[in-house]
Amino acid sequence: MSNVRLRFAPSPTGFLHIGGARTAIFNYLLARKTGGSFLLRIEDTDKQRSKQEYEDDILDAIRWLGLEWDEEPLRQSKRKTFHQEMVDELIERRKAFRCFLTPEETQKLKQEREAMGIHTAFRSPYRDIDPEESEEKMIAGKPFAVRFYVPDEPVVYIDGVHGKVEIPADSIEDFVLLRTDGTPTYQVAVVGDDYEMGITHVVRGDDHISNTPKQILIYKALGWTAPEFAHVPLILGPDKKRLSKRHGAAAVTEYREKGYLPEAILSFMAMLGWSPGDDRELMTHDELVEVFTTEGINKRSAVFDERKLEWVNGQFLSMREDDDILEMLKQPFADRVADGRLPAGAAKMLPIAIHLLKSRSHFPADILDRGDYFFKEPETVDAKAAKKRLKDPETPAWLDELASRYNAIDEFTVETTEQVIRVYSEELEVGAGNLIHPIRLAVSGQPSGPGLFELLEGLGKETVVRRLKWLAEFLREKGTPPDLEE
Ligand code: GLU
Repeated sequence: MSNVRLRFAPSPTGFLHIGGARTAIFNYLLARKTGGSFLLRIEDTDKQRSKQEYEDDILDAIRWLGLEWDEEPLRQSKRKTFHQEMVDELIERRKAFRCFLTPEETQKLKQEREAMGIHTAFRSPYRDIDPEESEEKMIAGKPFAVRFYVPDEPVVYIDGVHGKVEIPADSIEDFVLLRTDGTPTYQVAVVGDDYEMGITHVVRGDDHISNTPKQILIYKALGWTAPEFAHVPLILGPDKKRLSKRHGAAAVTEYREKGYLPEAILSFMAMLGWSPGDDRELMTHDELVEVFTTEGINKRSAVFDERKLEWVNGQFLSMREDDDILEMLKQPFADRVADGRLPAGAAKMLPIAIHLLKSRSHFPADILDRGDYFFKEPETVDAKAAKKRLKDPETPAWLDELASRYNAIDEFTVETTEQVIRVYSEELEVGAGNLIHPIRLAVSGQPSGPGLFELLEGLGKETVVRRLKWLAEFLREKGTPPDLEE
């Protein structure tokens, strides 16, 4: 094990969003790649907004994605005393000071500066207060916040994504470390906990980039070594605005419910804003662990394209074992039987439908919805295809003849079903397509689907014969082509 230690530090104030999942994935992959540790921290200091339900959801989603973490997650709210001690130490070291301005006074000062055209960051008039005077005021019960004494020199660090970053001192205000009510701020808590956890690399969203110089200042002031930082560009929706619920982007657990596979989300999210440097579009967990580096992270924001994610899901679905998919479809199948959409007896067709449709579906449930002809008789045929493919007046007669030839076959297989069509189309002196398209429409009602002969074998002789006769009858009734509403 290396001493590289990364963490994912969610605030349980909402479900794990797809963007948060990507941060978790990046941290996890770097930890596994370097042989280091991947840790979790629950940042639950906002008591109003933090909920157990959200925390459970976040941990569930991380587990589901296969991001196994090391060690017990750290709970930030339990560490308040340590955070307060940090602030005391900073005051002691004269790196922080008590600021006795009331919120109104602070507000007023800031407004005055603005009116005077001063655009540098706020400096509190108490930054140079005499320590004794400060003690006295505190003892006298005057309320105060503790602010950091921002030194007059730029903060410079090397960001793993953005390279050298230099922040001028006058753009960082004397930020608050301890609120008037005695609670430590986020900046203190994060530094204290990252230090305690021995974090060596902080990889997080660009939305935290303005916090980093403040946190680096705290590390320095306490004589601690700061971790390395890498800020990952945000994810945008198709309209190039920051990805949000408005774009239909949802919680990871919602994606799970929609039928997304964890390996698809892992692959897609890892490659959203990161690239292995070649044109791969799908990567397994092990492949990602092998090649992931922060250097491959894009400086520009990535656009989230749900259509692409659907495609990726389909690719991973087709790689799953049939039995896995059978397991996934048990409940959705039972639901469809319960509400009358599918007949109970059709369960025996499920393995066949899975085998033939898994490579043509985006989601497991597509196999039930688009492949419903595996489970019940088609009631009509695709109108557009019918107009094009069922216009020869001979079609009903051909279908009847095919039905009787198929009925006569002993072994109903891919080879024999094809052979019958070849022979018959030669006899008729028509192209095989004149038979193939009507057969597909007869057995499935649809213009496309799995390979026709695999489909015929899969449905079985009895069903195929019955459906061929059914379409012949249907066409006699409705004409060639049948008059159907498109
Ligand atoms: N809890 C913070 C958040 O959810 C993350 C803090 C950090 O990564 O430093 O945005």
